[in-house]
Amino acid sequence: MKRKDFFKNTAFVAAAATLPASKIFAEGYDRVIDENSGVKITKVTPYLFKSALFIKVETDAGVSGWGECDSSTRKLAAKAVEYDLAKHVIGEDPFESEYLWHKMYFKEFDMGRSGILTGTMSGIDNALWDLKGKLLGKPVHKLLGSANKEKVAVYGSYGRSKGNRYLSPDEMAAIGVDFVSKGYKAIKPRMQIRQLGLNPDPDPTFDVIKAVRKAVGDDIKIYVDFNNGYTAARAIMVSKKIIEHFNVEVIEEPVTQQSYSELKQVVDTLDVPVSAGEHEYQKWKMRDLITQANVDYVNADVIKCGGITECKKVAGLAHAFDKLIMTHNARPTLATAANLQYLGSVVNAAKFQEYGGSRERLGQQKLFKNYFRYEDGYLYIPQEPGLGLVPDEKMMEKEKIN
Ligand SMILES: [Mg+2]
Repeated sequence: MKRKDFFKNTAFVAAAATLPASKIFAEGYDRVIDENSGVKITKVTPYLFKSALFIKVETDAGVSGWGECDSSTRKLAAKAVEYDLAKHVIGEDPFESEYLWHKMYFKEFDMGRSGILTGTMSGIDNALWDLKGKLLGKPVHKLLGSANKEKVAVYGSYGRSKGNRYLSPDEMAAIGVDFVSKGYKAIKPRMQIRQLGLNPDPDPTFDVIKAVRKAVGDDIKIYVDFNNGYTAARAIMVSKKIIEHFNVEVIEEPVTQQSYSELKQVVDTLDVPVSAGEHEYQKWKMRDLITQANVDYVNADVIKCGGITECKKVAGLAHAFDKLIMTHNARPTLATAANLQYLGSVVNAAKFQEYGGSRERLGQQKLFKNYFRYEDGYLYIPQEPGLGLVPDEKMMEKEKIN
């Protein structure tokens, strides 16, 4: 179907005013296929790059959508799309994306309830949102129900590990200063200790945060991410020390992501907000994180947590518990686009959201014809149809490694 025919049909359906009873989904996961629904998905293609996995969803309307998968499992995820997930989407109506999410998840449940399944589905789901926006000529946040905002305040997020070594406190301070010189009002040094380096001795955190605070001055907000590197008692001890000396505003992932009771111990003890959630890959795990660990900020990630469709539900869930969404976002192109569109529809979003800058060294910008507008600590929500980034498809074909 051509895009202009799609609009003709849409107008016809609107004029008809009544939907047939057969449109109502049956209980369970059967449904009646509506032959008049219009656009059909014809192809789902993974594009694997050194630092990312993108998905192209094509339709018989001649319009395609692009989304990004969780990059940490990208090689396996490319195969999962090819062998397991594409078949559930091809031939279907992209406007039935809620149904398609549930079809993919429950048909492929044995792939894992978390991790690779939802991390891969995220790319397809986000491509469907891009596609729907392009077909309707609207940015995705308008389709989701806009929260009436044009820009998002971002904090500069950066890690301590570089290749096979860790950056020194002075090097960490220099990166913080670089973000501040570009207009950022908040930064987050990530300690990247992780459970493999649990309770490090000597412990780098105090010296790093000391150097960062001294370098950026007192007016910049500092969040600290422990990346799951401490036991509860040690996390509390280290947190109290850096909060007292260096005015730290948020502590992220202080303890293992495997234990909500340890996390709750930290949440209950500290008098600053605690955030977590980047390792939760669907709403059921987010429910447990909120109800069992009682975190203040929920770090949903649109390329890990099942895409925009699932993250909208997480925002609603968080809202019901008066928690704020502070998205996890470490990727500079399609993930950031999906993240901005999502945040553009979330009323219970924290003021500052994660952004690692444009990260040119990942080599992703050249795959797109445009980039985001950043000004004085804010990223503007793209107003173009879909997610708002325009792929350079010739460059995508040339640079992909699969
Ligand atoms: Mg983190």
